[in-house]
Amino acid sequence: MTFKIDLHCHSLASDGALSPTQLIERAAQQQVTDIALTDHDTTAGLEEAGNTAKQHGINLIPGIELSTSWNNKCFHIVGANINPDYAPLQEGIKNLKKIRIARAEKMAKKLAKKGIADAMEGVLKKAGQGMITRSHFADFLVAGNHVSSVQNAFDRYLAKGKPAFVSTVWTELDQTISWINDAGGVAILAHPLRYKLTASWLRRFLTAFKEMGGAGIEVVTGRSSPGEISKTAAYAQKFDLYGSIGSDFHTPNNSWVELGRLNTLPSNIKPVWELFC
Ligand code: AMP
Ligand code: MN
Ligand code: MN
Ligand code: MN
Repeated sequence: MTFKIDLHCHSLASDGALSPTQLIERAAQQQVTDIALTDHDTTAGLEEAGNTAKQHGINLIPGIELSTSWNNKCFHIVGANINPDYAPLQEGIKNLKKIRIARAEKMAKKLAKKGIADAMEGVLKKAGQGMITRSHFADFLVAGNHVSSVQNAFDRYLAKGKPAFVSTVWTELDQTISWINDAGGVAILAHPLRYKLTASWLRRFLTAFKEMGGAGIEVVTGRSSPGEISKTAAYAQKFDLYGSIGSDFHTPNNSWVELGRLNTLPSNIKPVWELFC
């Protein structure tokens, strides 16, 4: 089997559309050999994913995508190859769940003020036991015909500066990185070009990230253009970070993104999976 790795994707445990089992079955169909399930702020899908992966001869790398704050800005840090049973990490996850529920209640109130009732009930139904995310609000708004698409939901209500946006204090960056490292994992900055940062802010972030023990950066994501790959590869080199590749797959309905369908890492970048595969 040819090695094919994907270090970033989501299941029903957060805002993915597939159960962990369905996700791994899809990965098998796509000839993925090594996959990290990285749900937002939860490891709840890992056990099921691991069992299914075993049946298909796939290597499941335990992962998570942690929401974090640095200088009052939100970033996503992928923790790859973590021990999900590490107690301080699970304590942190409990707190993140509380933060997400409180934030969702505030978002629902803001939507109510805009004439959109019962959002909390709606998103709880969609999220089930999983982490509530803005994607669940987007789906709720689409289902109620308040917006024409998920993108429209973010543009009109959910994105930063829009009526239902709630600015949130997540776990601080140093704590987030420590949890991942102390759980035996590798901390990877997810989708570095999606934060709308100036080059100077991104450099400041990466300086701090590296100092705090961050080791990797996503050089290739599901929709990266060759120009974006060169740009992030240059950051990997400048800050001596290992490169990761991950689709950020959420749903089969998005035909642009598929599990394992990724450009290769530029040859001058050290693969982050050398640290654990
Ligand atoms: P949250 O962590 O609750 O703020 O939710 C973030 C999630 O919302 C991301 O992981 C994406 O899955 C989704 N998301 C954010 N911005 C957009 C967007 N413009 N269009 C579609 N999905 C988005
Ligand atoms: Mn998501
Ligand atoms: Mn993300
Ligand atoms: Mn993601």
